[in-house]
Order: sequence, then C-alpha cells, then structure tokens
Amino acid sequence: MLDDPSWTLMAACAAHARSRPTHPAVVCEDRSVDYAWIHRTSNRAAHALLTDGVRRGDRVAYLGLESEYYFTLFLACAKVGAVMVPINWRLTAREVAHILRDSGAVELFVETRFQETAEVLAPELPALHHTVRTDRAGDPDPGAGLFDWWRDHPEDDLDPGTGPGDAVVQIYTSGTTGLPKGAVISHRAFFTLPAAMRAAGKEWIDWRPEDVSLISLPGLGTAGIGWFFLGFGHGLTNVVMRMFLAQEAVRLIREKRVTTTFIAPSMLHLILDEPDASPAAFTSMRKIVYGGAPMPANLMLRCLEMFDCEFAQIYASTECGAAAVCLPPEDHRPGPLLRSAGRACPGNELKIVDGTGRTVPPGVIGQVCVRTPAVMLGYWNLPEANRRTLVDGWLHMGDNGYVDEQGYLFVGDRINDTIIVAGQNVYPAEIELQLAEHPSVRDVAVVGVPDEKWGELVHCCVVALPGTTPSPRELTLFLRGRLADYKIPSTYHFVPTLDRNPAGKVLRRTIRERLLAQQQLQGVLS
Ligand code: ATP
Repeated sequence: MLDDPSWTLMAACAAHARSRPTHPAVVCEDRSVDYAWIHRTSNRAAHALLTDGVRRGDRVAYLGLESEYYFTLFLACAKVGAVMVPINWRLTAREVAHILRDSGAVELFVETRFQETAEVLAPELPALHHTVRTDRAGDPDPGAGLFDWWRDHPEDDLDPGTGPGDAVVQIYTSGTTGLPKGAVISHRAFFTLPAAMRAAGKEWIDWRPEDVSLISLPGLGTAGIGWFFLGFGHGLTNVVMRMFLAQEAVRLIREKRVTTTFIAPSMLHLILDEPDASPAAFTSMRKIVYGGAPMPANLMLRCLEMFDCEFAQIYASTECGAAAVCLPPEDHRPGPLLRSAGRACPGNELKIVDGTGRTVPPGVIGQVCVRTPAVMLGYWNLPEANRRTLVDGWLHMGDNGYVDEQGYLFVGDRINDTIIVAGQNVYPAEIELQLAEHPSVRDVAVVGVPDEKWGELVHCCVVALPGTTPSPRELTLFLRGRLADYKIPSTYHFVPTLDRNPAGKVLRRTIRERLLAQQQLQGVLS
C-alpha cells in the first residue's frame, strides 16, 4: 500500500520497480531514469558498499550536488542498513571536516568539482573515499565515475534486516543557532505523514502517482530530502535541480509540466521576479507547498495572483522529520490566517510551553513544542542536547510562538534571535513581516545589537527594490501605528543582498556578527 507507515525506502523502491518500472523516477539535467533503473542500480551500489566493507549502522558521507546518482547512493545505503550523511557543499573545508569527524563516516563520495575541498581535508578523510567523476571530457554524466564503481556488482535484492524505525539518514542542521548537529532520521519520517492525513480524510498535502514534482529546496538538506522521498514513496516523477536558479525553475515548471513542489518563500519571490514568469507558464502546477521561513502576506497575495493552484504552508524543522504544522489550501484566503503557519498535521500534537515547561493558554507566547511520529531518533552523540530537545516525546522547536483558540500556530522567531529592549521581548519576524509590506522593500532582516542603556537595540538591514530609495524616516513612519514604539528599529542599514542559507532562511547570526565586527572596528578607529 502506498501510504503504509510500516514501509521503508527499500520496500518503496522495490514495489515501484515492479508496478511502474518504466515510469520516470528522477529527471536531472537532460537525463531521466526510471524506477526499474533506480532499483537495479541501487542494488548494485549496495553490493559495492558491502564489498567495500560497509555494514549496518555505518555512516556513508556524500559531498556533491544532487543527481539521480546521489539518490541512488542514498537508497543503496538504505539497502545495506547504512546511514547516509549528505554534506552541504557550500560549507567550508573546516565545517565539512567537523561533519566527517562527528559522524565517523567510514566512506565518503566526493564529486570532482569538490575535489579541492577533499584535498584540503586529506588527513580527515575516511580510509575509503571515491571520486564521483564529473570532469570526463565530453561526458556530461555526473555519475560516470560512480557508475564504474558499482558496474560489476550483482543486481539481486538485499535484505539489511532494518525496519521503519531504523536510521536511514543523518542530516546536519543548518546551524543557524550554532555548530551543526547530526539529526538521525528513520524511514518512518517519509511515510507517516501521508498515511495520517489520508486516514484523517485531510489531504492538505497530497502526492498523486501522475504528479511531476520539482525538488526546489536542496536535496542535501532536510526539506529537499523529505520532499524527494515523499514523492518517491508515491512513485511519482521527481525533477531534480542541481542547484536552485529561479530562471531554471521557471523553465522546468513550464517544460516538464511540473504539478507540485516544496519551496521557500524567498525562492517564490525570486521566481515571481523572473521576466519569464507568467500565469501561462505555470498552468501545469496544481499544488505549491512552501515553508521553512515566514511567508510575508503581500508575497502570498502575489503568488495567489500568479499561480492558479492550491497552496499549503508547512512548519517543520530537521528534527521533526516531516511537516509538524500545516496551513491547508482552504485557509489561503486574504485575511489574518495568512499570518499563521497552520494547525498540527493529523497524527501530530502541538503545544506552547513557558520557561518552566508548563503549557500556556491560547494567545500566550512561549516555546513551540511538537509531538510527531516522524520525529528524529535523536542527535548523533549529543545526549545533553537530546535531553533538552526531546522531553517526554515532545520536540522543543527552539521557536517562540502562540496558538489561537482554534489551534492555529503563529510562529515568532528562534528563541536565540529574540531581542530584549529594556526588558521587553521583540520578535524580529514580526517587524520583518510588517516591513516586507512596504512598497520599496524587497527583503529585510532584523537583529538585536548590544546597547549600554537599553540592553539591546533593534537594527534593521533592508534590501530596497531596484529604482527605489526608502529612507529610515519613511520606514519608521510606515511602522508607527503598526508596531509598538519599542519594536521600531533604531537603526537601518541598506544592503544589496541578505545572507540566506540555501533553504532560504535568513542568517541573522551571521548578520549580527558582521555588524558587531563593524561596530568594534569603528570603535577602534574613532
Ligand atoms: P539550526 O537548528 O542549526 O539552528 P535551522 O534553524 O535552520 O538550523 P532547520 O531545521 O533548518 O533549522 O529549520 C527549522 C526552523 O525554520 C524552524 O524552527 C523555524 O524557525 C523555521 N521555520 C520552518 N518553517 C517555518 C514556517 N512555516 N514559518 C516560519 N518559520 C519556519
């Protein structure tokens, strides 16, 4: 059964190879591979892993871009009971070294374009490492070298003896709050959500076998991996981008007749700004799922005008394994609910707690906690972080927020991002969402900077729309009446772009650190 929560990636792969062998499973660049190919090739790769000495529970790391080969390798790991550790290629060599050391990966696959990083890392590399060659003259195939490695191995099925509750991937958090932590995710994360929604008769998010799904968010991070395998679990066609480019996304949606995607608000913004973006280019789209960061209301309204399709919002984190909260299509009407992230998905529970862990009533701000069957098994080798984060099965999200009487969640910010001005809490997202409605503001990030008198002051970085020059005074006047005085930024800084991670999240920590360094420099110079 498609939505069986007792499924594993191995079972899904074998079942689709039997039931729809020639259906395209992955489309990447100008290549397409079907479910029979994926099953056969991941079996070969699994045998190759066994020959290399990889065993159940071992970590296998991958440093490269997304492709059919990456996902095949992922499945191969599952087929020997090993755990895939995808490494974000945007990380520095030091950060990659941290992940290799922390995970204890026994084998590493490096795409040739990241060979330089691998050379810097030479002393840190696991004894076993393979190069995924992408530099063969005239060979545009990103997996050609990987293919050599698995070519001579048998195609027969393996049984790793693992089940739905066993680890399949260790995803390092994006590190917006500190050093990346390895969240260990089981097969269950990819199967419980569709099953629970179908059982509850609430298809807020749905996957149909005839769907063509665009993997917009990085397939090396939680959102992209989750979305890929949710689609894979339903046997649909997954269009994989090696990296997100808005122009390319518009082309793929139009040419590949994409019907569904999971995407960050900032990516939707980029798509809407593309000269080729028009309702006519997007007629194939039937459902857009977005999340990972707050959705500004005016961006949502622009999306509703551009796309004649359903929208659903997801609130989740790496640690959740799958969506925790969802704003379903029927709530996407102009009005206050567009500011909400939605309600707990079927099968999940939601509560808000205060600093002592007690549940607070509707309307009161506290820490968002979620209980979900898809939750991570835990952080790798971090017992103290596990104790703090997972309390009686409740995942502490590290975000501020409140729920209303109807159970709708309104997300604030990462608790660490909260700015305290003269003892009053200020939530950056609240200010950002207001400023995003100003006609001259293209993008905005709000951070706290230390201040001797007030404790902290609100500082705002603004990217202006091309051709406009909003002044600090104009922005301040715009916010008056919308926000209490103590929330209004004291200083503004106009910048060409904002630091965002590949999943579209604004990197407030980096922005704050840069500001502080500038302030210190000015202090030294003055
Ligand atoms: P780290 O855990 O290392 O700090 P991170 O904050 O980027 O990294 P992720 O798991 O990548 O962690 O992202 C989860 C966070 O993204 C959530 O806790 C929340 O802050 C934000 N987020 C996700 N979905 C939404 C949403 N719909 N609205 C607002 N914020 C969201």
